[in-house]
Amino acid sequence: MANSINLKLTLDNSAHKHFRDDEFWKVIPAWKDVTREEFSDHMWQLKHSINKVDKAKAVLGDLCTEEFYQDMVDGQHKTPMNIRITPYIFALMDWNDPVNCPLRKQFLPIGSQFLEDHPYYKADSLHEDVDSPVPTLTHRYHDKVLFLPTTICPVYCSYCTRSRLIGGSTEAVEKETYGVNQAKMDAAFDYIRAHEQIEDVVISGGDAFMLTPKQITFIGENLLNIPHIRRLRFATKGVAIFPQKILSDHEWFNAFNAVHKKAREMGKQVVIHTHFSCPREITMFSKKAMERLFAEGITVRNQAVLQEGVNDNINDMVLLIKQMSYMNIQPYYVYIHDMVPGCEHFRTTIAESEALEKAVRGTTAGFNTPTFVCDAPGGGGKRHIASYEYYDRENGISVWTAPNVKPGEVFFYFDPIRKLSKEAQARWADPAQREAMIADAKKKAGF
Ligand code: SF4
Repeated sequence: MANSINLKLTLDNSAHKHFRDDEFWKVIPAWKDVTREEFSDHMWQLKHSINKVDKAKAVLGDLCTEEFYQDMVDGQHKTPMNIRITPYIFALMDWNDPVNCPLRKQFLPIGSQFLEDHPYYKADSLHEDVDSPVPTLTHRYHDKVLFLPTTICPVYCSYCTRSRLIGGSTEAVEKETYGVNQAKMDAAFDYIRAHEQIEDVVISGGDAFMLTPKQITFIGENLLNIPHIRRLRFATKGVAIFPQKILSDHEWFNAFNAVHKKAREMGKQVVIHTHFSCPREITMFSKKAMERLFAEGITVRNQAVLQEGVNDNINDMVLLIKQMSYMNIQPYYVYIHDMVPGCEHFRTTIAESEALEKAVRGTTAGFNTPTFVCDAPGGGGKRHIASYEYYDRENGISVWTAPNVKPGEVFFYFDPIRKLSKEAQARWADPAQREAMIADAKKKAGF
């Protein structure tokens, strides 16, 4: 099997201490006169977000070729995720080489990037809907639930694992998008109240940045007042893609901080889980936003997704980890990409993820070294990347169990077929051989 990732560390030892602080947005023709003050304002960011190809074209002018604009239009026919990009992220894209830019890849789909989905992809690859006792809640782990009060985000990621729900319908995917719904929220709280083993609630979506200050207070206080709840994690990509909100939306910041302080007084935890994926997302805005959060004692952890051409090399991964550590963000997880639609071009192999984890380990302190994981398709939960029961590297089939999550069940993760040998690709093309290979891997794993 081809292992195409670069594992040779050549990073300058002090690279992580440099935070970009130039007026980078002025490269966009329509924003060449935008002042630092305007660009730092969260309302300006929201008002000028890019949510249509025409809007992108209008601000970029002749910075891109007609061929690239046409590629964007083609992307709209195929993408499961709509476009919504803050000017902050849009301006950080490499407009000299947008096709290969890691930020363009993550947030601005183009037709030429899409590959055929894997035969075993699923819209709900992690069985979040299957493991949902009441709408908006997933209860998989004994003491933890995932609560999804909203399906909107300030930026839509092309690699989103919840593309079946998030960000509104596209030509490729019909979805039911919702904002916060009081009846659903009450039902979720009733369920949590009735299950005393639950100590931990992840409030995700969608993105907690899209909850109003009132909603942050309502959700935070209601959950903290449940005696058996010990920990709340608000999941927001906002620190990475919209740091201006932390710095200038004081009403939102104060509401979140009040929930955090109330939790402290009660001996409980309220933290932020964020989502930086590559060093190009990090600037002095990120550092200042983190300084504000850190000054209040708010813990921030990061969950990145391993993506081809975005962060699947040692230099970018180590720089990402060290810059986050420098800003007091704890690098927590690096996920192998879920097997969801429209994302085949992002996926890497288990072997590549293992190799990268091995290369990263030892480059910084252990507590700042993320755990590389596979979220086992079918709802097995997060498993350490090297903890499979069996791995057929030739055919890209790994077999997993989750003894304390779903005892007795067996889960499979499949490497992208394009990364396998020609012979293995031919076997995958034949449904009968495909089934036989999977049965063989299961047997070799002892099941
Ligand atoms: S912020 Fe999270 S939920 Fe929203 S689009 Fe990105 S990955 Fe999906």
